[in-house]
Amino acid sequence: MSSASANSRSTVATQCDYERNGKQFGYLDIPSSRNESAWGVVRFPVCVIRNGDGPTVLLTGGNHGDEYEGPIALQKLARSLSSEDIRGRIIILSALNYPAVTSGTRVSPIDGVNMNRAFPGKCDGTLSQRLAHYVTTELLPLCDVVVDLHSGGKTMQFQPFACIHKLDDEVLQARSRELLLAFGAPVSLVLDEIDSGGMLDTTVEESGKVFLAAEIGGGGTATAASVAIAERGVRNVLRHLGILSAASGSRSAAASDRSVLDTSAPGAYLHSNHEGLFEMLADLGQEVRAGDPVAQVHSLTEPDATPVVYRSRHDGRVIGRHFPGLIKQGDFLALIASSTEAGSRQ
Ligand code: CA
Repeated sequence: MSSASANSRSTVATQCDYERNGKQFGYLDIPSSRNESAWGVVRFPVCVIRNGDGPTVLLTGGNHGDEYEGPIALQKLARSLSSEDIRGRIIILSALNYPAVTSGTRVSPIDGVNMNRAFPGKCDGTLSQRLAHYVTTELLPLCDVVVDLHSGGKTMQFQPFACIHKLDDEVLQARSRELLLAFGAPVSLVLDEIDSGGMLDTTVEESGKVFLAAEIGGGGTATAASVAIAERGVRNVLRHLGILSAASGSRSAAASDRSVLDTSAPGAYLHSNHEGLFEMLADLGQEVRAGDPVAQVHSLTEPDATPVVYRSRHDGRVIGRHFPGLIKQGDFLALIASSTEAGSRQ
């Protein structure tokens, strides 16, 4: 397999041929010599579906191992599509951080690495860094578009949204925005990341390719509704790109709603400064005004103490929340999106 230079040669091996027409299920094998398996590899599932010329999309799920809509929807998609259904190429990594997916944890149990802080990766790094390096150097050059399906995991829950970032490149921004709207999630969002370093998102965007993410549900499980949003969204994207024919199924009603929220308001992310029992006072999807209560934290050690109330700092909508019933100092508490863009809600 080719790489940028001899000293950055990937140790990842696969029997999948990305140029071959048809559908292939295979693995990305990464050497992992360990006590339990001296000459072992860790096998990351991959599916390649190709039918002639056309756009290439990379679909990823399980970037974090406790987020389930992506792996479920993408495995179903991979099984259901045949190459005759499409034009171009679909590469599916339904469990981007496979060891984390198999252990139901956010980060890899093998190297402790958060896959979405491991990009662009290292050819001689840890297992997760090697996988990231392979995606960056071998898969990304093949792709026009990358769609990464996330969820809240065990510690967060979202009103399901698809999201893009603010980009300097206006053409790329416009293409990303069209894809965002095509996905047709209940909420379309321009997301400001707390920490964008090391993310797949950033690597794809810096390469000049279109990147779309989604945050669907959470709480460390998936629901019928949340999986349906992921499945419908991915098929909407494939139709938008011309990989699936426009006639194949109907677009979701939400795809016709062109309003876009954002998280650019100062204080959109609320974090807890207190430890205790966590009570939401405004549920996901609820509209709030500046100063409205969003949640409160009750002391576990002093039941007679007045709970600490956390308030929205601006007009907006609650689209993310801390999930567990207990909260600690420094934990993410809530995300309040606003509609400041022209043409959206007044
Ligand atoms: Ca995630």
